[in-house]
Amino acid sequence: MLNIDRQELQEALQQLDQAIYNHNQWSKNLTRSIICKLPYDNRDIKEDAHRQCRFGQWFYGNPPQALREHPAFVAIGAEHCRMHQLAAKLLLAAAQEKASLSLQEYDDFSNAVDNLRLEINSLKQELVDSLNNRDPLTGAENRTGMLTRLRELHELVKRGVQTCTIVLMDLDHFKAVNDTYGHPAGDQVLVAWVSYIKQNLRSYDRVYRYGGEEFLLSFPGTDLQIVQDIIERIRKGLSAVAIGVDETKTIMVTASFGMTMLDPNVSVEESIIRADTALYAAKKTGRNRSCTWVLSMSPNQNGGIH
Ligand code: GH3
Ligand code: MG
Ligand code: MG
Repeated sequence: MLNIDRQELQEALQQLDQAIYNHNQWSKNLTRSIICKLPYDNRDIKEDAHRQCRFGQWFYGNPPQALREHPAFVAIGAEHCRMHQLAAKLLLAAAQEKASLSLQEYDDFSNAVDNLRLEINSLKQELVDSLNNRDPLTGAENRTGMLTRLRELHELVKRGVQTCTIVLMDLDHFKAVNDTYGHPAGDQVLVAWVSYIKQNLRSYDRVYRYGGEEFLLSFPGTDLQIVQDIIERIRKGLSAVAIGVDETKTIMVTASFGMTMLDPNVSVEESIIRADTALYAAKKTGRNRSCTWVLSMSPNQNGGIH
């Protein structure tokens, strides 16, 4: 899942659609030039042809940073460049008076066009999935992809490739916030909090809306000590976020956190229960704090619902 906010994601998708359209037009024109022996566009035989076409102008322009770092985006860049080199060869060969085109060269080009299309479609599908798996209010990821992603991380933990810490966060006395200031004000708090958390996570950390005012955060490649420090910083930062209800009133809210590492020997669901047990302990011992799961903790008597 891409770490881009909802609006940026929507814009990226629109730009990608336009780029796909431009690429298809280019591809059609090129084939037409070759088959009908029309004069070719000089830019198509230049060394940097892949930067001059309209798709390349978008690609090497200014797409969102998170998109540029994505492996599928990087793969598109390589395939697009290769395809242009093959296209230039074909154009030059086709332009020769009596030359017949090499079947091999044509197949290489045609395969490169197909590969590029596959790469672009897989990136587009990921952008669409990413957009569909967002909670519309906060822009946090919803639970649709959460378990799948946590299971992938769990597999890496089981193979000893990397560790992963998960955290459950639940806002304190949030019902009272709604009762006092109204539901829309409560909504504003949720939006501001998720925005703050996202700004303070590394690009591969994730925040999922787990339930109403409860969120699950995942931190791949970390241990408890690192995440305790991160959560402490976030907890303090969040408690200082002031949400303006009107010109005179601001709301400040706190949250409690429960954390545990994904355990290779138990299921993902069991690890989430452990985080929930630790969260329950944080609530019980005064709220606005974090607790780490330990074996001696008794499971949340509320059955996991706060
Ligand atoms: P605790 O400190 O024990 O967690 O107390 P609490 O009041 O936060 O806990 P409780 O589970 O009783 O209340 C959660 C509240 O969160 C109730 C519900 O109306 C509110 N809530 C859940 N989702 C939303 C939402 O999308 N918007 C708003 N404004 N409120 C929400
Ligand atoms: Mg709560
Ligand atoms: Mg709750």
